[in-house]
Amino acid sequence: MGFITEDFLLQSDTARYFYKKYASGQPIFDYHCHLSPKDLAENRRFHNLFEIWLEGDHYKWRAMRANGVPERYCTGDADPYQKFMAWAGTVPHTLRNPLYHWAHLELKRYFGIEDLLDENTAPAIWQYAGERLLDEDMSARGILERFRVTAVCTTDDPADSLEYHQQIQKSNFSTRVFPAFRPDRALRTGDPAAFNRWVDRLSRSANIEIAHLNDFLAALKQRHDDLHLHGCRLSDHGLNYCYAEECTEAQAAAAFSKVRGGVALGGDEAAKFASYLMIFFGYLDAEKGWTKQLHLGAYRNANARMLNGRGRDAGFDSVGDWPQVEALAQYMDLLDRTGKLPKMIIYNANPADNYAFATMIGNFQDGRVAGKIQVGSAWWFLDQKEAMEQQLNALSNCGLLSRFVGMVTDSRSFMSYPRHEYFRRVLCNLIGTEIEKGELPDSEELVGGMIGRICYQNAAEYLCLPMAEKAVATAISANGHGLPARGVEGLHIRQMEKGS
Ligand SMILES: [Zn+2]
Repeated sequence: MGFITEDFLLQSDTARYFYKKYASGQPIFDYHCHLSPKDLAENRRFHNLFEIWLEGDHYKWRAMRANGVPERYCTGDADPYQKFMAWAGTVPHTLRNPLYHWAHLELKRYFGIEDLLDENTAPAIWQYAGERLLDEDMSARGILERFRVTAVCTTDDPADSLEYHQQIQKSNFSTRVFPAFRPDRALRTGDPAAFNRWVDRLSRSANIEIAHLNDFLAALKQRHDDLHLHGCRLSDHGLNYCYAEECTEAQAAAAFSKVRGGVALGGDEAAKFASYLMIFFGYLDAEKGWTKQLHLGAYRNANARMLNGRGRDAGFDSVGDWPQVEALAQYMDLLDRTGKLPKMIIYNANPADNYAFATMIGNFQDGRVAGKIQVGSAWWFLDQKEAMEQQLNALSNCGLLSRFVGMVTDSRSFMSYPRHEYFRRVLCNLIGTEIEKGELPDSEELVGGMIGRICYQNAAEYLCLPMAEKAVATAISANGHGLPARGVEGLHIRQMEKGS
């Protein structure tokens, strides 16, 4: 009997029953991931397990480093087969790390491979997978169709070209692919040279000269409009914590001129400027009915030597411990009091914030959109069984699990789709176990309906992606959109009046 059985993670008959009947057959709505639009546009083919499985996967690199594998075999110049063998030699040492579950679930679901991966089984697995990768259903698009992914939202910098999204939308690909607006670089004012290179790129994408703050805001808004025309309905921000400081337009304009002129912003100035922009982004999202995602609390790039050598997102990040609550409350309140609080999904990197976030969302539900403010699925280091259960429990205890918009892959790899299956098994196990204990009613309609909604329907309804519309943007080039490039008026963050 293989390791990943039909009953994997399902520890009761009731859990198995609900999983099979209400969860396993659901399609996938993947509203946050880091798949490359280029790979999807070109329907990338993968030539071996390295390309589809290891390339770009910082979770695996971390495990390999921890296992004493030299950097050459992680991000360095070793050849793909050597890197795969180094990973295979590490896998037996990942017992109880989620990588062990993911690795075997992925090998089984993509290739039907049941062997445990180690250095002995690795050569045959490499060979077999390499042959299977030649099949049409193992191309970038083939995989998404095979896993019945109805929608994918990528993660896009506002300065990025939308050419790949246009290519995808013109094609007959059955999975709908939409961009998501992630303007993190607008807030990185500590490195003026990099900031200004990015502003120049933004200027070209938006076709707006950027000298002053108003130009900058107009260019960002232009790209927000452009992405909207391409079906984007989500923004996303990766922040240590929310920025919610008082900042007048004059202060923001002065800060922008300073950094545009090549001078780094200091701590307080940078925080004020970031606050000003975050309110601006909140307004943009609210006006268009988008959902804003906040990924809060990851401590990034701890290792300066490796950052210099390998760049960002190479596996040198961890769980941060900044206080989150006050700034998050102030940020949401600043938007709410102007009537411009968008729908939001808030993800915490630190498990200590589960209850804080699960209670915070309740302060800003508006009685119109069910589940308007969401606490996001267990993220990054929390994307594993224990933390998923903790997130589900906190949300259940403090909010409405039934309105939860569910799981995302949040992955750079096309091999990550079984994470939805993993989440669904954890969810059904939790629910099934409580039914067996008599803590939940054994009602198919009630409980089965909730499971089905969390697995798919809630996200599909909540996010309002233009699923059925024919690609509105196919005839629209990145710049030739015919929309007026207007300045942005009236953005002024007033002094916060403390309510009683
Ligand atoms: Zn992400």
